[in-house]
Amino acid sequence: MGAMDTGNMEGRWRDLDYLLLRQGNIVGPGFEPAPEIRDFLQDDFKVLVIGAGGLGCELLKDLALSGFGHIDVIDMDTIDVSNLNRQFLFRMHDVGKPKATVAAERVMKRVKGVTVIPHHCRIEEKPDEFYKDFHIIVLGLDSLEARSYINSVVCSFLEYDADGTLDMSTIKPMVDGGTEGFKGHARVILPGVTPCFHCTLWLFPPQTTFPLCTLAETPRSPAHCIEYAHLIQWGQERTSETFDADNPEHMKWMYEQALKRAEQFNISGVTYSLTQGVVKNIIPAIASTNAIIAASCSLEALKIATMCSSGMDNYMMYVGTQGVYTHTVSYEKDMSCIVCSLGVPVHADADSTLDQFMKQLIADDRFSGKLSKPSVSHLGENLYMAAPPILEEMTRENLSKSLVELLGEKGGTVNVNDKKLAGVLRVQVAFSDAASEPNAMDTAGAG
Ligand SMILES: [Zn+2]
Repeated sequence: MGAMDTGNMEGRWRDLDYLLLRQGNIVGPGFEPAPEIRDFLQDDFKVLVIGAGGLGCELLKDLALSGFGHIDVIDMDTIDVSNLNRQFLFRMHDVGKPKATVAAERVMKRVKGVTVIPHHCRIEEKPDEFYKDFHIIVLGLDSLEARSYINSVVCSFLEYDADGTLDMSTIKPMVDGGTEGFKGHARVILPGVTPCFHCTLWLFPPQTTFPLCTLAETPRSPAHCIEYAHLIQWGQERTSETFDADNPEHMKWMYEQALKRAEQFNISGVTYSLTQGVVKNIIPAIASTNAIIAASCSLEALKIATMCSSGMDNYMMYVGTQGVYTHTVSYEKDMSCIVCSLGVPVHADADSTLDQFMKQLIADDRFSGKLSKPSVSHLGENLYMAAPPILEEMTRENLSKSLVELLGEKGGTVNVNDKKLAGVLRVQVAFSDAASEPNAMDTAGAG
């Protein structure tokens, strides 16, 4: 009994010790098997889990059972009755309580020796310093906005030397999990080294919609009939009303129209609950998907913490719709990413005007064809806006100012926007006039 209370009864960490006390062919760089690694994991290593929902519950359980001794969890939500089928740390009498608090309590009760500190708040409410305190951050989120936010915080920690070399000690590793129905992903992000969340934003395509012509002319599925009633019929027949998905009468009308249309085209399968699902865009949450993705994320966290194995490189997708399929892809960093990169280096004359500098950018082979009428900003301030006309007029006077006047003595990073660019182009401006570099070398020589 006493041994159980300490959490270190005989054999308690046997499986973990298999990984930490033995050499192997795929261990990470610098790994030397030693019992101290487990001590480090249990006593010193700090992991933050963001989200205490479907993925979060699984992550907390997995991390605690994998030997992580200090876990913090942050979540702004309270427990809803509809969570209980998969968010297994919660019970009926917990409904209405904060997820983070209850999850922390339950994990500590079940896994002896682990400390879980809950934070019931929005991630934006914590200062950046809070996030700096953890060795690794594991994300169990369901929103793009929250991921982007935390990604930009973590990438803002990155520091580059004067010659553009990344200071490795400023890297805060992240492991990101995501699930949608029977599909999911797990990925490892080493900001500044592997692609950050922003580098691969294209991985999250906009929500799929049906072409209106299909809905109007050639419906082939129950969902087509429902979307026809939703997007076309409502506007035609109930012009003065705004559709409210939570109004039962509205939803019933929607269902009846969809059903009529389905009968007309000989399509079966329109039901009231499908109508709700399509109109509200509900994707069912699947407990097993959460379990698989969280397991993968926890294992990656363990690898990063202990180096007992080389880590995932760098994105694993999981598809469980038909059979089980996984595939791991090594995505590449976007060298001009506005969030994690230093920016594309461009040498310019400190005395050249902003207008001349922009012409230099347009002429630069590396951006050929991508820039025509660029807008330029520096540290959040618009230096020149090509559009709209009112902003163009307000910023036009900067065109004749010199770069040193606008950016300061050392140059700096400017963000370049252009209609032809997919995103923002980050440009690192270094001055190549006679004054700076040779002087620096003289000083070094003299010292
Ligand atoms: Zn990036």
